[in-house]
Amino acid sequence: MQHVVVVGASLAGLRACETLRMDGYDGPLTLVGAEAEIPYDRPPLSKKVLAGEWEAERIRLRKADDFASLALDLRLGVRATALHTDRRSIALADGTELVYDGLIIATGASPRHLPSQPALDGVVTLRTLQESLTLHALIADGTARVVVIGAGFIGLEVAATARQLGCAVTVLEGLPAPLVRGLGAQMGTAVAAVHGRNGVQLRCGVRVDGLEGEGRVSGVRLEGGEVVPADVVVVGIGVAPNTAWLEGSGLQLGDGIVCDASLNVGVPGVYAAGDIVRWPNAAFPGDAPMRVEHWTNAAEQGAAAASNLLATSKGDEPTPFQSVPFFWSDQFDSRIQFIGRAHGDDEVHVFTGSTDGNFAALYGHGGKLRGVLGVSMPRMVMPFRALLAEHASWDDALAKAGALTAG
Ligand code: FAD
Ligand code: NAP
Repeated sequence: MQHVVVVGASLAGLRACETLRMDGYDGPLTLVGAEAEIPYDRPPLSKKVLAGEWEAERIRLRKADDFASLALDLRLGVRATALHTDRRSIALADGTELVYDGLIIATGASPRHLPSQPALDGVVTLRTLQESLTLHALIADGTARVVVIGAGFIGLEVAATARQLGCAVTVLEGLPAPLVRGLGAQMGTAVAAVHGRNGVQLRCGVRVDGLEGEGRVSGVRLEGGEVVPADVVVVGIGVAPNTAWLEGSGLQLGDGIVCDASLNVGVPGVYAAGDIVRWPNAAFPGDAPMRVEHWTNAAEQGAAAASNLLATSKGDEPTPFQSVPFFWSDQFDSRIQFIGRAHGDDEVHVFTGSTDGNFAALYGHGGKLRGVLGVSMPRMVMPFRALLAEHASWDDALAKAGALTAG
């Protein structure tokens, strides 16, 4: 290959660049990123950086001078605006055109907004370093009344951090339970109980009708007319994949880029990685093609996409990307870890501890293990990775749980 371009200068894109270099590609390599920032890690944005405990420099994915060893043509602060697969080129917002013969797309996702969300001061979303610093400034002195819309990961992590800074915090969730997407209703409720114990008001099953205020937000209006007073409103209602720049490119888009098992987008020499990817994960054969919005997946797919691009450029077969998803979340003193996938119809079995505090639980369906959750039980989650990968039976999972907890 004469020139590889990676679009999206965050976790998946940077891991792709590192892997290309590690696997021996020493030709020209361009990394394009819309943010004018040296790539950084997002998980601390709702935790240590938001709390003001870590400086921004601590979360860089690579130190500024380490970039030299990757020999990148780093184009930061410039957005890709179009992909032309027929002439193998990418248009950038600054008017330049990059011709590639290998391309990796890692443009991630962006926060969703409320329908007709007004532009009021004090209303924020959280995805970027700048947004985390802005929110920190709004809540740092602990006097703000913070209302969080959405009891997903962003919502609950921000709620915990704001409460720990002394703020009065209310979380509003439309579904009957928190963390439903990640953990299912039963365990979502159990895990989020730590918020009630720490003074966060968690209100589920409430519909947000709109925001109140002139110039600056003053409250959140619920269906029925009640207004929850607010100085700061955090909108944490999920993300949408950044595919707008690929409209008209011929790539198959559908809540992400539809890829094959090897992360190829359907065009030779073009792969995708991270939050933007929808792919058939052979680790979950009965499931529809999936999109995973967590750190470990982005890192692993960045590396896998790069390896497959290199392999196919040499005429070798690509390797299917197969993975058991994993994520963690820190909320107050709970470290939540989950491996596998939660489905609404899973049977859940708590095998150690108590749902009033720390515990671990198996998720299964149809006699098979599908996931494992641990709340501050680090040694009870990862040992199940191999069993999940080999589609182990529920009975084998129970036996493993018994062995782990014996003695
Ligand atoms: P992104 O990180 O979204 O990066 C995509 C990059 O592409 C961005 O920099 C964007 O500006 C750029 N881009 C977009 N469009 C264009 C374009 N047209 N041209 C050029 N560049 C473009 N996961 C966990 O497992 N555990 C956690 O505790 C955790 N905490 C999180 C906390 C926060 C606050 C957030 C926001 C996420 C958290 N995550 C966590 C999720 C994890 O950070 C993401 O899964 C991961 O960042 C995805 O990486 P990515 O590289 O695919 O995409
Ligand atoms: P999320 O996990 O999808 O949660 C969003 C929540 O908001 C869902 O429960 C959603 O319910 C609810 N919601 C949607 N519209 C609403 C409305 N109008 N009113 C009230 N509630 C509403 O997404 P997120 O928490 O915003 O996180 C954003 C991204 O960052 C995700 O990719 C997430 O994985 C990532 N992240 C991950 C971590 C972690 O892994 N620890 C931490 C922070 C962020 P519905 O399902 O009904 O839409």
